[in-house]
Formats: sequence, C-alpha cells, structure tokens
Amino acid sequence: MTDIFTPEQRHVVMSHIRSKDTRPEMLVRRFLHRHGVRYSLHVKYLPGRPDIVLRKYHTVILVNGCFWHGHGFCSEDFPLQHESPNCNLFRLPRSHTDFWEKKIERNISRDEKQHKELTAMGWNVFTIWECQLRPAERENTLMGLLRTLNLILMKNLGVRMGYNTEEEEEGMMRAAENSFSEESEE
Ligand SMILES: [Zn+2]
Repeated sequence: MTDIFTPEQRHVVMSHIRSKDTRPEMLVRRFLHRHGVRYSLHVKYLPGRPDIVLRKYHTVILVNGCFWHGHGFCSEDFPLQHESPNCNLFRLPRSHTDFWEKKIERNISRDEKQHKELTAMGWNVFTIWECQLRPAERENTLMGLLRTLNLILMKNLGVRMGYNTEEEEEGMMRAAENSFSEESEE
C-alpha cells in the first residue's frame, strides 16, 4: 500500500499536519519538566517508539493527535475504540472517505498493538488526546496525569516497603492522594 496522495488528499494532510507536529507533545513535556518529572523521548527499544517515557514511573505517555489516531472513529469493521464526547477535532474527510477510513483504521490497529505490547511488558500506558490539551481542559488533564504518576510512585514504594495486603495498599493510595491534594492547593 503506497501513500501517494492526490492533491485533494494532500490538502487534508496539510490541514491536519499541525496535529501531527510536536505542539501537544511539547505542552506535556514542558509541564512534566516544570514539575520535576524526568523523561526520555521516542525510546527506540520500546514498541512503537513511544513519545515520552518515564522510567522512574515505569510509564509511557502517548500524545495522540485526534485526527490521525481517530478519536471517536468507528466504522462497520471497527467498533468505537475511544469515547470522545467533547472532541471536534476528528472528522472523516468528505472526499475519498474510503481511503481515509482505511488509513485511520490502520493507525488505530497499530495503536492498539502498541498499547497491548507495552502493557504486556509491564509498562503503565497513559494516553493524552490532543483535544484534552485545549486551554479549557489542559489544566485538568495535566493535573490528572500528575496525580496518576504520584499514585504509581506511592504504589511502587508501598510494594518495595512490603505493604502487600490490599488494605495496606489502599492506605498508601489514600495517603498519596491526600498528600497530593494538599500540595496542589498551595
Ligand atoms: Zn479528541
């Protein structure tokens, strides 16, 4: 399958190229940096060369452009993969719809495979959609990410310290949540 675009297809590509460049990813990276979270980029030895890799948290962050990764896409062969009630960044182009449908389906399959492989290797996978980084939602999304990272860290710490029962683990998680909400209120 070649990817030679007709002029019309090229136009669609160009109009969506912004979502493929690094802007959403940069927002996430700057946020992480500001909060002292260290990351590696596009790690080659992991499936799909994930965008952002946080070794300390054993977590991979994937920043998805809504068009290319089909946010809210569904078709005859493809049931809805990702709920996207507030996303208006994905719309199948009206011309050459079949072409685009197939293309987005391929991208979604690739994403699914990558997600499965990473999870099987024991990585936490956190997906952030481009639309979740729009100004109105950005703060919420990124603080949610930070909260999840803190929980992962506390959970790992708990395991290392021998908090093995579920109750003890829950206690750790609660403590983590509390300490986090105190921090964020400052
Ligand atoms: Zn979206």
